[in-house]
Amino acid sequence: MQQKETTEITNYRMTKQRDLILKALQSVKNHPSAEEIYLMVKKKIPNISFGTVYRNLRILKEQGLLIELNYGKNFSRFDGRIENHYHFSCVNCGNVLDLDEKVRCELNKKIAAETGLHVLYHRLEFYGLCKKCSD
Ligand code: ZN
Ligand code: MN
Repeated sequence: MQQKETTEITNYRMTKQRDLILKALQSVKNHPSAEEIYLMVKKKIPNISFGTVYRNLRILKEQGLLIELNYGKNFSRFDGRIENHYHFSCVNCGNVLDLDEKVRCELNKKIAAETGLHVLYHRLEFYGLCKKCSD
């Protein structure tokens, strides 16, 4: 009984932490790194560790509640907006912006028809200099 209660309290705490991490991510538009999310969450839960935040980001990703944007091996950004959308990435400052461009769903059908592959979705990324960096 004691053990069960302890497990329940631990699970509750973990769920609350995960909730806070997801809310922190959803509250910003700048596609933060794990490190930046950690710093945001730390303001609400001062004793949380980077490892805990990172583990929870992995779980939230597996649950399909966030998107991880990979830019090479050591460079990952997180996105709380899960419906498909395109991004612009600044090659100078690393700024990642959402684009209003309509997602070309017809491309999935075209590729599927041409290759016989079962296409689920596609990702499209534009690279260049953001407004700040091209001034
Ligand atoms: Zn830039
Ligand atoms: Mn985005």
